[in-house]
Amino acid sequence: MKLLVTGGAGYIGSVCAARLVAAGHEVVVVDDLSTGHADAVPDGCRLVRADLADVADPLLAEGFDGVLHFAAKSLVGESMLDPAKYWHGNVITSLRLLDAMHRNGTPRLVFSSSAAVYGEPSRVPIPESAPTLPTNTYGATKLAIDHAMTSYATAHGLAAVSLRYFNVAGAFGRFGERHTTETHLIPLVLRVALGRRSHVEVFGTDWPTEDGTCIRDYIHVTDLADAHLLAIDHAEPGQHRIFNLGNGTGFSVHQVIDACRRITGHPIPTRLSPRRPGDPATLVAASDRARTHLTWKPDHPHLDPIVHDAWTFMQANTS
Ligand code: UDP
Repeated sequence: MKLLVTGGAGYIGSVCAARLVAAGHEVVVVDDLSTGHADAVPDGCRLVRADLADVADPLLAEGFDGVLHFAAKSLVGESMLDPAKYWHGNVITSLRLLDAMHRNGTPRLVFSSSAAVYGEPSRVPIPESAPTLPTNTYGATKLAIDHAMTSYATAHGLAAVSLRYFNVAGAFGRFGERHTTETHLIPLVLRVALGRRSHVEVFGTDWPTEDGTCIRDYIHVTDLADAHLLAIDHAEPGQHRIFNLGNGTGFSVHQVIDACRRITGHPIPTRLSPRRPGDPATLVAASDRARTHLTWKPDHPHLDPIVHDAWTFMQANTS
């Protein structure tokens, strides 16, 4: 298939683009490089360096079989301080993309949604049928796009899939996480092990969890990417299907730091800090639907191999 990958110079987008190319697809990446890196675009992909909102229409006029839409603003804390950046950058840009797809007859869309749409869950693991009550602006913008996709699928026959990511980590060869502004737990902890930071801040130790720190469901980026390849194949015209992607096991912030100590051999000092605004206490996926309908099965259900791959990547990419 000829596929447009938005945000394909970023962490998850580049891993997915690499796996799409390996599977024999023709891939065009569009990325404004505001957070991505040109050298992260896999060999064999054409890179269009531009704002998606500006180029979606002329680009899709070339004729594409589908779009995998990763490009987004994705910092929870920032989304609480600068909501306009998220409503414009995520929602308005995605509406431009949906309109361009409709105008040009692009049949399939796979969208990077997020567990953040659920907010503080009433039960865990969280199924796709759980109430969507995001506790932060980032999650609210992802949910708004999910709703728009449902409308476009119903009205215009779009074959739409939203994949709700839980906590993505790990790396795939030379493709990994290298954000200029890093806010994610695992890469921040590993920066301490590399000697680039003195300690890790633990955001809240008074959460209603066993050890008082937040619990998350960590998924390897290659398992996540593989779900996208399945999703583009399983997308059905006129339907918007939603799938959670996680391993179904929760790890606390303290447990993640311990795993990083085991893998790196570094003591990794911690400092206890106040809660981070917008964080839910526990997010763990029920991903039975993806396993059943997409025939998806993660190859990395345990935390240590995920941390191991992130650590290998980080040691090779210390800039
Ligand atoms: N966290 C932390 N210290 C950090 C970064 C993150 O304690 O320096 C916590 C954060 O509050 C959350 C968990 O680690 O409970 C995972 O955060 P991350 O930003 O990696 O992912 P999120 O769950 O927000 O998507």
